[in-house]
Amino acid sequence: MLHEENSPEANRPAGVNPQDWLEFGQKFHGHKCPAMPMGLRVGAAAMNALGVERAKDGQIFAIVDLGENHCATCYADGLQVIMGTTFGKGNIKKTHKGKWAVTLVDRASGKAVRVTPKAETMLQNKQSAFFKDYREKGIPASKVPAVVVDPLIVNVMAAPEEKLLNISKVFDYKLEPHSDNFNGFVCEECGEMTVESYGRIKNGIHVCMECAAK
Ligand SMILES: [Zn+2]
Ligand SMILES: [Zn+2]
Repeated sequence: MLHEENSPEANRPAGVNPQDWLEFGQKFHGHKCPAMPMGLRVGAAAMNALGVERAKDGQIFAIVDLGENHCATCYADGLQVIMGTTFGKGNIKKTHKGKWAVTLVDRASGKAVRVTPKAETMLQNKQSAFFKDYREKGIPASKVPAVVVDPLIVNVMAAPEEKLLNISKVFDYKLEPHSDNFNGFVCEECGEMTVESYGRIKNGIHVCMECAAK
C-alpha cells in the first residue's frame, strides 16, 4: 500500500490496520453490515498481539467459535479478509460453539491469542435499527438504507480496542502437523477426479464416495 509522506497514514504505528481492509472486505462480502467490520477489528487485534503477518499460505491458523445460521456470521468474512485465513487454504475452522471468539495460532512460534468482541458491543448492535427494524424482520442486509447501517460501521471501525474487544494473553498452542494430500485418482464409475484418501473399493473397482453409496 502506498502512503504519502507525512500523511497520518505514514505516521501510524506498524501493524495491521483494519481500515485498510474495509473496502476490499465489503466488496468480497457483498453488502455493508457491522459484523464483517467486527471481523476486521478482531482479526487485526489478534494478528498484532501475535506479531504475525497476513497468511500467504498456512502460516497462521484461525479457530472460530461460530455455529451455523445465526446472527453476525458475516463476522467470519472479515476474519478471512484481514488474516488470510481462508476456506480455500484450509487455515480456518469453526468450532460450532455459537460464539464469536477467534483463537489465532502462529504455527512457527506455537503461540496463540484468543480475541472476542465484548458482549456489550454485540448487545448494542442487536438493539440498533439495523437489526430490530430490518434484519430481524427478514430484510436482507443489502436492502438496509446506508443512513441506518453506515453509523454502525463507523462505530465498529472507530471504537478504541479496549472498548470493543477482549484480548487474551499470548499462550502456547500445539497444532497438529499439517501436510496437503496431493494424491488423487479417477473414479472408475463417474470419471471424476477424487482425492485418494476419499476413495472406496466397490466390487473390485476404485470409486468415489458418491459412487460407492449408489
Ligand atoms: Zn454481512
Ligand atoms: Zn464416482
